Amino acid sequence: MDRFINRKRKYDNDENTEISDTTLPSTSETLKQSGGKCRYYNESYMDIGFTWCGPKDEPIPECIVCGKMLTNESMVPSKLKRHFIKQHSHLKNKDVHYFRKLLSDQKKEATKFTKKVKVSERAPEASFVVSQMIANNMKGHTIGEKLIKPACKEMVRIMIGNEAALEIDKIPMSNDTVSRRICCMSTDIKELVIEKMKNSRFTLQVDDSTSSDGKCYMIGFVRFVDDNAIISQFLCLKEFKKNTRGKDIFNTIDYFFENNGISWSDCVGICTDGAPSMTGSIKGFDTLA
Ligand SMILES: [Zn+2]
Repeated sequence: MDRFINRKRKYDNDENTEISDTTLPSTSETLKQSGGKCRYYNESYMDIGFTWCGPKDEPIPECIVCGKMLTNESMVPSKLKRHFIKQHSHLKNKDVHYFRKLLSDQKKEATKFTKKVKVSERAPEASFVVSQMIANNMKGHTIGEKLIKPACKEMVRIMIGNEAALEIDKIPMSNDTVSRRICCMSTDIKELVIEKMKNSRFTLQVDDSTSSDGKCYMIGFVRFVDDNAIISQFLCLKEFKKNTRGKDIFNTIDYFFENNGISWSDCVGICTDGAPSMTGSIKGFDTLA
């Protein structure tokens, strides 16, 4: 694995001196667009410990033992053999089966390594998706670590296996993480909506309500056109200590607009429930706005 990660894949321009070896297989060539000859890989180069990489129409030889890549001009048996003898003479008695196995093992290791990197990269994404589901279903933030993660781990262990189940452990889903993810997504949505409101006309829908414990709330929704679609989006929720007068509602929304650079002139319509605090001709929210 270490050799796979640390392998230095450099083009080698130093090996241009051709040696004569009439016993080695011949090379197929065509003319390159630039005028030079393009050489192609021959399966028999596996005997000398070489595979190929790069584009099909201009492949370059790659040493299976050390991973060194030579130039297309070096795709001739004599130059490949020269590298092999110079660098890996201790393997001169190995046959083609040895090199095939070496190449196959390297490919397996590469796939395993890629998979591991991808899984750990996906862990934060999975964490965000589950946090969003928790928020959408209005469940407590602790449900992630107490129920969802252990349940998911068991399902994966039974259906796929222990190794896959261990990957589930890498998904951060503690109470604090879920809370932080939800805040993060909420801030992102708020910023997006504000940006849309700054760049297009919109309408507002505002209402006030009193909860069973006597607290007064004002809730605002916004509607705007985005990519030829009408978008309705929650905008804000504010708790009032006393009554929700038209003036209080107006001041709250006005403060929100001012803080976020939103202009009242882009607001082309206001929808309320027709209560006096909203529609009053002197102090109603509609009149003030
Ligand atoms: Zn080599």
